[in-house]
Amino acid sequence: MREESSVSQGQTFLEDVVGRIDDAAKKLNLDENIHKTLRTPRRSLIVTFPVKMDDGKVRIFTGYRVQYNYVKGPSKGGIRYHPDVTLEEVTALAGLMALKCAVVDVPFGGAKGGVACDPKNMSTDELERLTRRYTYMILPLLGPEQDIPAPDVNTNYQTMSWIMDTYSMLRGYTVPGVVTGKPLQLGGSRGRHTATGRGLAYVTESMLQKLGVDIGGTTVCVQGFGNVGMNVAKFLNDDGCKIIGVTDMTGGIFNADGIDMRNLVAHSEKNKCIRGFPGGQFVPDFREANRKLLSTKTDVLIPAALENQITESNAPEVKAKVIVEGANGPVTRGGDQILGRKGVPLVPDILANSGGVIVSYFEWVQDIQAYLWSEQEVNERLKNLMAGSFDQVWEFAEEHRVTLREAAYMLAVDKMAEVTKLRGIFP
Ligand code: NAD
Repeated sequence: MREESSVSQGQTFLEDVVGRIDDAAKKLNLDENIHKTLRTPRRSLIVTFPVKMDDGKVRIFTGYRVQYNYVKGPSKGGIRYHPDVTLEEVTALAGLMALKCAVVDVPFGGAKGGVACDPKNMSTDELERLTRRYTYMILPLLGPEQDIPAPDVNTNYQTMSWIMDTYSMLRGYTVPGVVTGKPLQLGGSRGRHTATGRGLAYVTESMLQKLGVDIGGTTVCVQGFGNVGMNVAKFLNDDGCKIIGVTDMTGGIFNADGIDMRNLVAHSEKNKCIRGFPGGQFVPDFREANRKLLSTKTDVLIPAALENQITESNAPEVKAKVIVEGANGPVTRGGDQILGRKGVPLVPDILANSGGVIVSYFEWVQDIQAYLWSEQEVNERLKNLMAGSFDQVWEFAEEHRVTLREAAYMLAVDKMAEVTKLRGIFP
């Protein structure tokens, strides 16, 4: 029988991440001193800065950059623009990045950044001024050998271009390797934009194979239809899966016969949301749509929006046979325990959505080499790395009779601990 970890109701996202590191350390019987270093972030920067808005008024914004760990190499992690961004959320996401880089053996530590703002209600000019000023404010932490941002929720290749340009202007020469997720023309990598979704599709296929389920006709529900959700839905649909439910901030689309993905993608790219798509039953309230999505009978459920979506309160409603985490931290520790009791297997975020950071690593390598790889080379290397990591986590879970989440965390913590031990504690 598996040992239950002590999870109290209502833990925060950061407490969940640290609690999972603690659980892994306990199971690994990790040295207490090493454990202490792994459960705390190294550097946290809070910045408050003025931005001139289009109406001539100045608004003050608060931003963050947290370097959770750089024991294996430069710290790496996305930048999020969202009204709910806090230091605690950014720290939790930075911790997940460190664990993710460790589990897939990418030579980076983990970082994350964010600005508390409402990008949906800001003009492109305002977003550019905010991005450039935020970059200036966190400049002491940035650099291709130090800390490398990438896109996350509500940021994209354009945001990365502005960061790269601002950093380069302040250095006096062009530095493509300071960010990843850039456009190709600025030193981006082929395949980076779709890498997280592609990687998620690979691990979903691997998981279904292990469970002996044929991918053809497999039903899939996806929460969130941005970079991650849209791409994984597209790839799985191309593989023969039937996408029967999709939600975003504007509501949800449901169609038991399968949603026409080509049309939904075109609609979403044109309208920047799924609202108004005619090919299914539309639920206009996103909370209601999410409730319906979680309780839809489906083979695979992919939460690909934000953290804390499947919790103690709604996990009992989940009808999916398998969950593959597209977002970072979509299932809380309490939610995990309920899904475990219900026997719903789950591929954890730090493994499942690592395609983005893997191709970001490839982009960084290409920038250092000043040599562009072909898309086929990028995709093949991505598939090999993800397949190897999935097999390693699967075998570890079988051998130690733990869940895939526990296995992924144990492997990640063990790898970070080994490097920390070898390097020693400075001074
Ligand atoms: P995005 O901004 O491109 O898309 C987010 C999507 O989620 C949008 O469709 C939005 O409408 C929807 N959404 C937001 N809140 C929602 C809610 N409560 N219910 C339903 N839908 C909701 O962001 P993204 O880059 O796709 O990131 C999504 C998640 O994946 C985040 O957790 C992010 O940290 C994680 N992630 C992203 C990448 C990447 O390469 N972009 C890599 C790894 C992990």
